[in-house]
Amino acid sequence: MAAEAEIEDRGERWLVVGAGPSGLSVALALRTAGVAFDAVEADRQPGGMWNFDNPGSAIYETAHFISSASRSGWADLPMPDHYPDYPRWWEIRDYIRAYAAHHDLGRHYEFDTRVEMALPVGDAPDERWEVALTDGRRRCYRGVVACPGFQRVPRIPSYPGSFAGETRHSQTYKRVDELRDQRVLVVGAGNSGVDIAVDAAVAAERAVISVRRGYWFFPKLIGGVPLDHFGINTVSSQERLAEFLALHVGDVTRTGFGAPDHPPLTHHPILNDQVLHHLSHGDLIWRPEIARFDGRRVHFVDGSSDEVDLILWATGYRDEMPFINTEHCRISSTDADNDLFLWMFHRRYPHLCVLGPANLAAGGYWGLSAAADLIANHVRDEQTRPERWQRFRALIESPEPDLTGGYSYCEREGHLNYVNAAALDAYSIELATEFGFDALGFPADYEPPDVIDIDDWLNHPRPVERPPHGSLTPRAYDPLELIANTQQRTPPSPNSESRAFGAP
Ligand SMILES: Cc1cc2nc3c(=O)[nH]c(=O)nc-3n(C[C@H](O)[C@H](O)[C@H](O)COP(=O)(O)OP(=O)(O)OC[C@H]3O[C@@H](n4cnc5c(N)ncnc54)[C@H](O)[C@@H]3O)c2cc1C
Repeated sequence: MAAEAEIEDRGERWLVVGAGPSGLSVALALRTAGVAFDAVEADRQPGGMWNFDNPGSAIYETAHFISSASRSGWADLPMPDHYPDYPRWWEIRDYIRAYAAHHDLGRHYEFDTRVEMALPVGDAPDERWEVALTDGRRRCYRGVVACPGFQRVPRIPSYPGSFAGETRHSQTYKRVDELRDQRVLVVGAGNSGVDIAVDAAVAAERAVISVRRGYWFFPKLIGGVPLDHFGINTVSSQERLAEFLALHVGDVTRTGFGAPDHPPLTHHPILNDQVLHHLSHGDLIWRPEIARFDGRRVHFVDGSSDEVDLILWATGYRDEMPFINTEHCRISSTDADNDLFLWMFHRRYPHLCVLGPANLAAGGYWGLSAAADLIANHVRDEQTRPERWQRFRALIESPEPDLTGGYSYCEREGHLNYVNAAALDAYSIELATEFGFDALGFPADYEPPDVIDIDDWLNHPRPVERPPHGSLTPRAYDPLELIANTQQRTPPSPNSESRAFGAP
């Protein structure tokens, strides 16, 4: 039997896993907070899933950002103004790499280095974390911040019968050419599912999409500007939004889709203008849920059936971190049994933090850096302000705050990890205020954004000028005002001394 590698003790250092947008945000936040850390990334360079050839990347050649360039960047380095409203995958990749270079974050990382296993040693709350790396090296850290991405472990449903064609998860789909001359069935109408269905409508011999329920389809632009420039993220706008969608998108049941059985934004929004276009042109056929397989024939619950060569399961991902045993960390969007407070802080193990599993209807790396700042503040406190650390720990062990913002998210569709962006921002600011944390992701020259009121616009529809990407703050509401109004607290100064936001 081969001798076990000696464990290298890394003392009080933490380990950051992953150099995607989350890991990079955490690396910068820890460095800014003065916390000693190492960082590892399985791929050759920063970029996360946006590195097309990163094994397990969910990106395909026709993938674009779904949130707009103006609202989605890091606050201290907006996306360049020449970027389109919805950048292409390689523009996001380049932007992430530019962010890493801008802050010289690469020097903290060992690339081509995967964490194969991480487990707690010793009893909580004093546990340390042992990790095993790809090449057999083993190390022991004070703690781990895991940012491995949560669109990595495919979720595939099963149906009766056996299928004689090819089946694979959408994660393996890369190029339109893979669909040529094939009768393709895409299962699922998430944002990847509808993108791939659109590719199939153009390239495949026959394109079919199967969905279990009705959805709202959001247009990418309203009055010429991206949807997320509008203030649509509150329950009060829900009715107006339904009205707007009925007016501008129309009755989706005419294309075959079922009518949505939930109010808008209680399910992750599907932003796609082309899928309805192809359905209405007959290039794409809609089917309900699969009932069973019989050779190459797929039968659906309404009695219809199709001959299919290739099934692409666009059915999402499991919330798993393969290198941490679920006994040590349970994360689930379908099961209430979760170990993470705010989807970030482990309730039992103080030295395990995770960034990534929360899902929200607002894209943006600004939000990741705000969350990373929260983690870094807390990690630093253990070393420098133990009393405050204890107070925050007590909060972590208490019941989860209500971050739904009043929405009833679709639990049966795996939306237990869904949080309302406005509620999350407001709560984070409230925490920062209460605990005296450094500012969370706000640029020093923070200005409340221009929000286009959906009500006002519906009453007076008009083209809207698109401002330069860098001139907008990432959210279509002012979180400072929000917290001041709803919580009656003084928001923290955006001009934190410890972080030079916006500095070149
Ligand atoms: C088609 C598509 C469109 C999207 N559009 C948007 C959008 O418009 N706006 C938005 O905000 N988000 C969007 N996303 C979501 C996307 O998840 C985020 O943009 C972002 O990539 C998440 O960053 P992350 O760092 O959490 O994860 P990832 O980008 O997945 O990065 C995780 C990194 O961790 C590394 N890693 C994993 N396991 C290990 C290990 N064991 N050891 C070492 N390294 C490891 C991986 O190699 C990877 O580099 C989209 C996703 C898809 C698929």
